Amino acid sequence: MNYQELYEPALLLHGHKCPAMPMGLRLGLAALEKLGVDRAKDGQLEALVEIGVDHCATCFADGVQMATGCTFGKGNIKRLNLGKWGVTLIDKKNMRAVRVSPKAEAMLANKETDFFQKYRMKGIPASEVPLEVVQLLVDRIASAPTDAIFNISEVFDYTWKEPPHSFDSFVCDLCGELVVEPYGRILGAQKVCIPCREKAVSKP
Ligand SMILES: [Zn+2]
Ligand SMILES: [Zn+2]
Repeated sequence: MNYQELYEPALLLHGHKCPAMPMGLRLGLAALEKLGVDRAKDGQLEALVEIGVDHCATCFADGVQMATGCTFGKGNIKRLNLGKWGVTLIDKKNMRAVRVSPKAEAMLANKETDFFQKYRMKGIPASEVPLEVVQLLVDRIASAPTDAIFNISEVFDYTWKEPPHSFDSFVCDLCGELVVEPYGRILGAQKVCIPCREKAVSKP
């Protein structure tokens, strides 16, 4: 799938127009192309994203999810909490990976626009920024040559060990909710979930 096909569904998922999500979309597509693989229908790819949780342009990760098919739900995207925007995309089957990072100039160019200076940095939510202000930025990212906005590594070897996948579950003796087996805890004669155990042991 190309950028045009993915942009509208990505916008629906993401919720507002901003420059960071399209940046992630383009980056994800560039990573797939360099690796020579398709978007992950299942868990064949893994994306390691370097963003943290408490800073600008984390919207970026939603674009990466849409492009690569590495999603929170499938569990094949991980946040590295480094406060950067690089992404390592791993092709698990062939044990190869690529790291793509937005060029600092490209990220700084976004920050020097009215979108950031006059709106976002003053606490105005992205959805309330006038369309003409944000559209300009979105269009610029959509049409920029890949090598003008990203550094793309050579493909390198990456040893991948898939963690065990649990299909087993049990019903918590206290709350009656279904719990995945390895997350079960013993509480006296009962088998319970983590929150129920914590509640029970923290009672005075
Ligand atoms: Zn956004
Ligand atoms: Zn419980």
